[in-house]
Amino acid sequence: MATVLCVLYPDPTTGYPPHYARDEIPLIADYADGQSLPRPRGPLGFRPGELIGCVSGELGLRHVLEKAGHKLIVTSDKEGPGSEFERWLPEADVVISQPFWPAYLTAERIARAPRLKLAVTAGIGSDHVDLAAAAAAGITVAEVTGSNCVSVAEHVVMMVLALVRNYLPSHAISVTGGWNIADCVARSYDLEGMHFGTIGAGRIGLAVLRRLKPFDVPLHYTQRHRLAAETEAELGLTFHPDVSSLVRAVDIVNLQLPLYPATEGLFNDAMFSTMKRGAYLINTARGRLVERDAVVRALESGHIAGYAGDVWFPQPAPVNHPWRTMPFNGMTPHIAGTSLSAQARYAAGTLEILQDFFDGTPIPDDYLIVDGGRLAGTGAKSYGLT
Ligand code: NAD
Repeated sequence: MATVLCVLYPDPTTGYPPHYARDEIPLIADYADGQSLPRPRGPLGFRPGELIGCVSGELGLRHVLEKAGHKLIVTSDKEGPGSEFERWLPEADVVISQPFWPAYLTAERIARAPRLKLAVTAGIGSDHVDLAAAAAAGITVAEVTGSNCVSVAEHVVMMVLALVRNYLPSHAISVTGGWNIADCVARSYDLEGMHFGTIGAGRIGLAVLRRLKPFDVPLHYTQRHRLAAETEAELGLTFHPDVSSLVRAVDIVNLQLPLYPATEGLFNDAMFSTMKRGAYLINTARGRLVERDAVVRALESGHIAGYAGDVWFPQPAPVNHPWRTMPFNGMTPHIAGTSLSAQARYAAGTLEILQDFFDGTPIPDDYLIVDGGRLAGTGAKSYGLT
């Protein structure tokens, strides 16, 4: 019998279950890049479209795991030595956490988890785990690659349009009884013709490029591995050999690369100073890719025209985090990848990973970040340990 310790975000403040806006979600055949959807064995413990990412939803895992004789602990209490997470960690064989409400698995915490063999990210992005420490301790780290790529890509497109068209301040004027058109449009532009560039054109970055193509914007990218020539030709992509070349060339910069030691603080004062005046920055990747106060300075000085982000550090962000109140921001709490549609996929993928682990079946390469003491699968392609 294994102990599975699962950390999820708290229930809605208005109670669980919520009243759903729709009766069902569209069924998707497979991911656009040909990767197959999660294929857990046996029935799911939830109905797609239900809110299962929060504590009461339990990712639909309880019945399935308990039937197989395992113990499931679900909590949102994750910070500090007195937390439920730290209380159960010494006996956990498996930890499940979500990037939206990350249970940070630091080297210190890993040292206090002698039985831990598997850390699953219910979603994408495993930087809340100290990957080097996990590798050294022989812990496998896996995430549900592909599960919320389109969810995030749609969020990026929304943020691009919201910033460029000055949507959020205009909406605020409309709901507070105003009609001052001039205030709304003094910062409003058309997206058409603006140069858009993504740093990281993996599963999400490429999905963003595909979605922006019909807006008639010249598209740019940079990343570690160049895309296939056919993809570049199909989307008319300009490849940049490095980040600084891309940043100088575009009006909108999108961050879509993972966080690891070498990418932390990528956007600092020096990088901001190379952006075009009036450029926009979108960050649905990870908060620590951007230096917290550097973005505030770039907005307050008017050097950049807007910042829209979905990711913070730490999470949840303190109420006085400056990104909540800095000018020209289009921030959301970390929600891009946890729509009800995404939850159904990452909960199914989490179950698939658990089944593989308990059955002794290899976890698919696409899902692996760390295995056998080193970066593996997607981890080897997308992350670094330094
Ligand atoms: P992916 O692994 O498919 O793609 C990441 C790409 O980044 C890879 O192609 C890699 O070559 C590139 N890359 C790595 N280091 C780089 C560097 N130094 N410079 C340029 N490119 C580099 O991952 P994905 O599914 O596209 O997800 C990307 C990231 O998005 C995740 O790591 C996660 O942090 C974030 N994410 C956020 C949410 C959300 O809800 N906001 C949801 C899912 C993922």
